[in-house]
Amino acid sequence: MLTDNFGRQFQYLRLSITDACNFRCQYCLPNGYHAEHDRQFLSLNEIDTLITAFARLGMRKVRITGGEPGLRKDLPDIISLCRSTAGIEQIALTTNGFNLEKNIQHWADAGLTALNVSADSLDTQLFASLTGQAKLQTILRGIAKAEQSGIKNIKLNAVLLKHFNGQQLDEYLAWIKQRNLAIRFIELMEVGSNKTFFNKQHISGEVIKGKLLDQGWFAMPRAPLAGPAQEFSHPDYQGRVGLIMPYSKDFCQNCNRLRMSAMGKLHLCLFSEQGINIRPWLTAGDVKGTCEAVRQALTDKSASHSLHLHQTGATKHLAMIGG
Ligand code: SAM
Ligand code: SF4
Repeated sequence: MLTDNFGRQFQYLRLSITDACNFRCQYCLPNGYHAEHDRQFLSLNEIDTLITAFARLGMRKVRITGGEPGLRKDLPDIISLCRSTAGIEQIALTTNGFNLEKNIQHWADAGLTALNVSADSLDTQLFASLTGQAKLQTILRGIAKAEQSGIKNIKLNAVLLKHFNGQQLDEYLAWIKQRNLAIRFIELMEVGSNKTFFNKQHISGEVIKGKLLDQGWFAMPRAPLAGPAQEFSHPDYQGRVGLIMPYSKDFCQNCNRLRMSAMGKLHLCLFSEQGINIRPWLTAGDVKGTCEAVRQALTDKSASHSLHLHQTGATKHLAMIGG
């Protein structure tokens, strides 16, 4: 089992398979995607070496992310490769959902076990103005199709934004009243490129938490392999609500994940200064060397990020690493 100097154990890998994206979320890529390198993203063989190595190190859950992972044509192959790796129990995907409706059944058939779809507003026009894409309705149809696909664990991600969804809690809750889905509200994080937007739009998850508790929602115990969300349920609702509050005290104490960029760099934290290049071992198909490189790198993981001090490390936007 991978364990760091603070006794935290890592069983959850977030794997970015591309940093390209076709959306222009105002807090992430407001001017759209511009390649900063040669776009030689990890190949299927390199991903195979990576997942085999991480599974040997005790990883049990892989989340495929990006950029927009749905842009990669070999996404079903990547999912089935993870599925066929001994030790990997959960394969999750985080997507903006642009091609969900068309592809979800292929992804489910390839072995996807969990799906997170981002929708930061349930208002069609606000959604389009935030993302640069008028695709809310196709995304919602995609989610409905995902519910029929056999995937049990489906979540809708919404970054909390004062002027886009700050007043839409009731709409989100109505949406899960009769649906066995979860909504994840994520506090907007400051990154290198969104400081002005952050100052205008950031709201604390505590505001939502207070409203949920007032309306009879109650906190649930944390499941093994779960992400950092505090989860809430309510007897009158089929769905659940999760809150991810990276600015809350002790957020990093339960850190259980490592991140790989699409260019083969290991990131010990979303806000670290730099990634550690382990690609040479991946390209060589060297599972043992990859394991050693990861173990060695982990000795440098810090106790916590310094977001509250506005130190965002080298992370310009989360499309670089996958959120
Ligand atoms: N493109 C996919 C999507 O949007 O779901 C996957 C990549 S995206 C970087 C992963 C998640 O990070 C999304 O839910 C997105 O809303 C979230 N995210 C991006 N930038 C963020 C920020 N500055 N603060 C909080 N969440 C952010
Ligand atoms: Fe693309 Fe996701 Fe970033 Fe939006 S949050 S720009 S969909 S990578």
